[in-house]
Amino acid sequence: MSELDNDVAVIEVHNPATGDLVGTVPVIAPDDVAAAVRELRLYQPEWEAIGPAGRKHWLLKMQDWLIDNTEQLAAVLQSETAKPRVDAIVDSAFAVDILGYYARRAGKFLADDHPSPHSPLARVKSLTVAYRPYPVVGVITPWNFPLAMPAIDVFPALAAGAAVILKPSEVTPLSAVELARGWAEIGAPPVLRVVTGAGATGAAVVENADYIQFTGSTATGRRIAAACAERMVPYSLELGGKDPAIVLADADLDRAAHGIAFGGMFNAGQVCISVERVYVEAPVYDEFVTKLTAAVAALRQGADGRESEHDVGALANENQVLIVQRHVDEAVAAGARVTTGGKRTGVGTFFEPTVLVDVDHSMSCVAEETFGPTLPVMKVADEAEAIRLANDSIYGLSASVWTGDKARGERVARQLETGAVNINDVFANLFNPAMPMGGWGLSGVGARWGGASGLRKYCRAQAMTKPKLPTMGKELFWYPSDMNKLVIAVAAMRAAGARGMRRIDLPTVLRLKKSK
Ligand code: ADP
Repeated sequence: MSELDNDVAVIEVHNPATGDLVGTVPVIAPDDVAAAVRELRLYQPEWEAIGPAGRKHWLLKMQDWLIDNTEQLAAVLQSETAKPRVDAIVDSAFAVDILGYYARRAGKFLADDHPSPHSPLARVKSLTVAYRPYPVVGVITPWNFPLAMPAIDVFPALAAGAAVILKPSEVTPLSAVELARGWAEIGAPPVLRVVTGAGATGAAVVENADYIQFTGSTATGRRIAAACAERMVPYSLELGGKDPAIVLADADLDRAAHGIAFGGMFNAGQVCISVERVYVEAPVYDEFVTKLTAAVAALRQGADGRESEHDVGALANENQVLIVQRHVDEAVAAGARVTTGGKRTGVGTFFEPTVLVDVDHSMSCVAEETFGPTLPVMKVADEAEAIRLANDSIYGLSASVWTGDKARGERVARQLETGAVNINDVFANLFNPAMPMGGWGLSGVGARWGGASGLRKYCRAQAMTKPKLPTMGKELFWYPSDMNKLVIAVAAMRAAGARGMRRIDLPTVLRLKKSK
């Protein structure tokens, strides 16, 4: 994270590969954040009132805009991240995918529920649960996917009927500014505001919004959770990870090596669900390490222009490089071996894709989140040891299991303490918003997406009752109090709930009446 300070009025955004200044954004002061939220509150009721069909109109227009402007969005995103071209395109494609899913299904996902009454006595009412949005949802995002991270939370919240205030990372704010430009350009209602700035601007969002969706570090997530608790507002946090990959002896080793190379190096390892440690069953360890090393060594690293020429780009900032270098250096000092990579390239913030072996859980490269292009690999005796070591982490975001036996893979998966497990693949859960994406342990609270839950999380459930029968006069329990009426109700509740005649115990109920 850059050391930008909220006292300065402007944030300069630099390309991490070249150091070039690529843009500036204003630092929005806390008072201005509060004013923006007040304004959003004025427009939100109408946004809610037009319903899912009315909102779908605008959201699909925005989807068109994202598709029509893919080139421009990729250029902005590349300028502030130095991502390879392919990764820059993936960002907007992912945004389009989730936006379309929720825009089209919001009507179904937000439809009222009509639960069956729990007992015969309650059948006199018809029951409705309506899903009413939190008026203003605050979305705070990190720098690793500057377009997708905002989009994949902002659009579900808008689809739910909330107004949204977005605070993008100060490291990569330009893509989020583009999103706001798109929303204005399509002429949509002013229910989306982007406020740029660093921690103080984010803290002001937390102080003013009605629900907080946060993605970022565990340390900041903890601060946000505490601030939300003070205000009694709900939150959903996606935090750090240290995702394990387990390679079992019956796995297709070529697939495992290529999959893990991709899972560890995609976006230069700066993905919350990057593979960050690998456990390999002893009989195939040497062969797997050879294949993984070859797959990683073959990756092409560098800065792309408009053509796709590279697989791995730069790290987001100098701070990230220092963390990666420290993890590698500490491991090597403690006896680990680098089979490929291991150092900066010498240009910008590029760090070579790196495989480390002879590592253990005492090393920072295995115990701490790296968020960079390193794959530490460990030999394990068997499946049980792999599971035990995989679970030996404060984090629990996702994991992968590589095996020729899918039933075995599922059996292992069910013993892992992570919010998601992909069998013979990486990242697959992320591209399935019909499933929840949530971290266990210090990887998060709550989840993103998950079909209807992905919209209902931004809503408050409102319970409504309506009489089923014509209402005449007074209800049974209304004043004046009368034990005779109570006896009827108690007897009926017991009759509905008690198991066996003995517990219905009418004599006791009747004594109640006499004691009056
Ligand atoms: P990362 O280094 O992964 O970006 P951070 O957790 O530092 O992780 O930042 C994630 C987002 O949280 C950024 O947009 C950042 O500006 C914002 N942020 C930092 N501190 C706070 C805070 N105290 N309250 C709210 N948001 C914050």
